[in-house]
Amino acid sequence: MIVFDLDGVLIDCSVRKQMLSSGDISRHEYEVGAACDTDMPINDAVKVVQTLCAHYDIMYLTGRRKTAFDATYERLEELGFPMHQNLIMQPIGETTIEYKEQNLSDLVTTTEVVAFVDDSEENREAGKRVGIPVYGTIHELLRHLKRA
Ligand SMILES: [Mg+2]
Repeated sequence: MIVFDLDGVLIDCSVRKQMLSSGDISRHEYEVGAACDTDMPINDAVKVVQTLCAHYDIMYLTGRRKTAFDATYERLEELGFPMHQNLIMQPIGETTIEYKEQNLSDLVTTTEVVAFVDDSEENREAGKRVGIPVYGTIHELLRHLKRA
């Protein structure tokens, strides 16, 4: 299995973040997934994940709140990312690092996780503590897989 963070790795959500900081949408609207239709794939992320999907199970582990599940799922599907019960979102009240570390450590008890890709160094550190190879970008991951 390969586990991907969404924002900053597969998805560019800068338009939505801009709408939040300029007050066009409220924090509440942001957390329930307002304007997810402005999310765009980063470079060739869709093609890369589609290709990897033929060889690996894919999991999306995002710090987005569970309240934005439907909007996030729909947008990922619309963009062409492979979707099949594999989107994990953050419950209210947990910190992102703890939540990601907990989910990764649960995953490794049942599955071989060959990589965790996250643009946050703190989240990558959490992956390392669980013993998973970590990468900051999909291209770093691809370079590694080609060598392997
Ligand atoms: Mg991120």
